[in-house]
Amino acid sequence: MNIAIYCGSAFGNDYNYENSAKELAQELFKRDMNVVYGGSTQGLMGVISNESMRLGTKVTGVIPYSLINKEILSEEITEIHKVHTMSERKIKMEELSDAFISMPGGYGTFDEMFEVISLGQLGHHSKPCAFYNINGYYDKLMEFLYHSSESGFIDKRFVDMIIVSDNPVELLDKIQNYTPVKNKWEE
Ligand code: AMP
Repeated sequence: MNIAIYCGSAFGNDYNYENSAKELAQELFKRDMNVVYGGSTQGLMGVISNESMRLGTKVTGVIPYSLINKEILSEEITEIHKVHTMSERKIKMEELSDAFISMPGGYGTFDEMFEVISLGQLGHHSKPCAFYNINGYYDKLMEFLYHSSESGFIDKRFVDMIIVSDNPVELLDKIQNYTPVKNKWEE
């Protein structure tokens, strides 16, 4: 199983983010799950790829040519796809992956995660989307998504379908046992 990991190009300001990223890498390795990520060595992206490579996990990076020097392409990983645009990066990562995990991150991470959640809602895929909720990082976002649902903008099943856990074992168990919800056109 190939798992896309969306994560910040920063470390965050608490050591727990880095520690928990390593714990996720270890749990992925135990389950023989491959990592697909943005290909950079920066921040939590570097942590997940370095720890995964150290363990012997297959790691695939997808990076736009324009970011190779800025985000610093990891030469250590198993496989690299160089693409032309940021949009192509998201499409490639989506195509290569069977599930999506968002670790804590910033706008880039949100953009990547919301794209796959929204594609799932439209029925372009039925793969699980999960927030790795280290330090409760995504609590307020989930609260907002339920607010959006209560306000009539998102059907509740498309919020309920999002897997949320701060525990890598539970997170990956839920991904492996995920039952797809009906998409927007199947109601
Ligand atoms: P951030 O969460 O902002 O630290 O960004 C995490 C990763 O997302 C970085 O590798 C960014 O280059 C990447 N990113 C930012 N914007 C986009 C986008 N529009 N499409 C694809 N990747 C992006």
